Amino acid sequence: MQVMNSQIADIITQIFYKVKNEESLGEIAKYIPELSNVDAEKFGVHIAFLNGESFGIGDFQEKFSIQSIAKVLSLSLAYRHLGERIWTRLDVEPSGNAFNSLIQLESDKGIPRNPFINAGALVVCDILIDILQNPKEELLSFIWQFAGTKSINYSLRIAKSEKQTGFRNIALCNFIKSFGNIKNSPEEVLDLYYLLCSVEMSCEELSYTFGFLANKGKILGADQEILSLSKTKRINAVMQTCGFYDESGEFAFRVGLPGKSGVGGGIVALMPNQYVVSVWSPQLNEKGNSFRGMKFLEEFTTATNVSIF
Ligand code: GLU
Repeated sequence: MQVMNSQIADIITQIFYKVKNEESLGEIAKYIPELSNVDAEKFGVHIAFLNGESFGIGDFQEKFSIQSIAKVLSLSLAYRHLGERIWTRLDVEPSGNAFNSLIQLESDKGIPRNPFINAGALVVCDILIDILQNPKEELLSFIWQFAGTKSINYSLRIAKSEKQTGFRNIALCNFIKSFGNIKNSPEEVLDLYYLLCSVEMSCEELSYTFGFLANKGKILGADQEILSLSKTKRINAVMQTCGFYDESGEFAFRVGLPGKSGVGGGIVALMPNQYVVSVWSPQLNEKGNSFRGMKFLEEFTTATNVSIF
């Protein structure tokens, strides 16, 4: 691995220690029992540039539960197969509600507001079950392809813990089914959904995995196109508007990059044609986004003066 120019490494190092030394006002997610078994002080950052340079600091090589971040990968796989037809089953509007809310589904007749709230990700899992022969295996191989490593896996421990406490997701899935927007059995869809959310990666693996979204739909370091330019642009647009629960406006305002967060405390964000940056700190703010992750990225785009705006 080539180490990038010292200026950016210095900026990241400075901000990393500044944010680490400030008090974190966040809390670890406890509603999935297994998620609370993590050291609250973990903090890692990794950046991968399209030119091959990279830099990591702190716990950037430690795996964590990427949770909802994986919803971007399942969407990419379903979108690749189904093309624009996918948008007959999903909308692309910010929900303005909690990620596991049931309220809007009633008025929207079972069409989830976007693919990144739980309702939307459940519909994507339903689509994957329809179009793939072995959804669990094929989803994982799809992820391996981007990451360039087979060291990424589901955590059966986390998936089991989610299943035991997944009352809201069970309700969501059955509710969507009542509108006809889930075709398979809710049990099968939920099992795939729990596995999807249980994927574990390090910040370093996350940066490389998301490289295709910064690289016009092509895997980093290879010329292989996974998504067309137009589909890549659209996924980035949905991340920009819907990637941070009902704090997506705040993230655009403070950071100015498309990205996605998860309740495991990870955030991945990218500057198209330049880099992917991943941050992990498990303490979440009241909206469910990593407290230190948001702070780090805000200071990073401010210091580098680079954002999509
Ligand atoms: N597996 C989590 C759930 O269904 C995903 C939450 C998230 O990261 O947004 O509640």
